[in-house]
Amino acid sequence: MNIVENINTIKHSIPSKVTLVVVSKMQSNSNILSAYNSGHRIFGENKVQEIQKKYNELPSDIQWHMIGHLQTNKVKYIAPFISLIHSVDSTKLLKEINKRAKENNRIINCLLQVHIAKEKTKYGFQMNDIEEIIKNSKDYTNVKISGLMGMATFTDKTKQINKEFSQINTLFKKIYNSHITILSIGMSSDYKLAINHGSNMVRIGSAIFGKN
Ligand SMILES: *Cc1c(COP(=O)(O)O)cnc(C)c1O
Repeated sequence: MNIVENINTIKHSIPSKVTLVVVSKMQSNSNILSAYNSGHRIFGENKVQEIQKKYNELPSDIQWHMIGHLQTNKVKYIAPFISLIHSVDSTKLLKEINKRAKENNRIINCLLQVHIAKEKTKYGFQMNDIEEIIKNSKDYTNVKISGLMGMATFTDKTKQINKEFSQINTLFKKIYNSHITILSIGMSSDYKLAINHGSNMVRIGSAIFGKN
């Protein structure tokens, strides 16, 4: 498994307007540094403790993205440095991010996670609630809602995945404006489908580092 080769292969296979988030959860610092030393700067993590530790140990020009479910009481640990939170799934969380961003004199970029999968376990807002939340978010002076994130059903049924990506893309196109520009859909198994449905940010782990 050659990490740098895998990253380069993926980068060459996606349009240049699509941002690659290298998902480095459970990866060692040395694996992350291999990617870093080849020029990559954007890494995604799904656990607060892990992202905090890596932030402290690794180069300071890494842009850290939080992609996993975020508990309200843990926002304060990542608020000083987080570059983008993909996984905002409640207004309570949005409010807390705003509060902690303010304390740190920052504006924190956020994506609203939309529930598109059939599984009940996946977090996220209902599609129908998104426009209302964006309208009401004007009060959050230190949060910038930059787009949407979604995770398709874990299945090999391409038709189902296409349907879910198509739904979130329709919503994205409806709300798209000068601030709302990011559609974060697509992982190792489905990023090509996601790009066909307007994804401009893909989150890829196992296709780079191998399966753990
Ligand atoms: C782990 C994870 C990914 C990456 O998944 P792979 O299948 O390893 O590419 C993407 N998004 C989220 C939210 C994840 O937790």
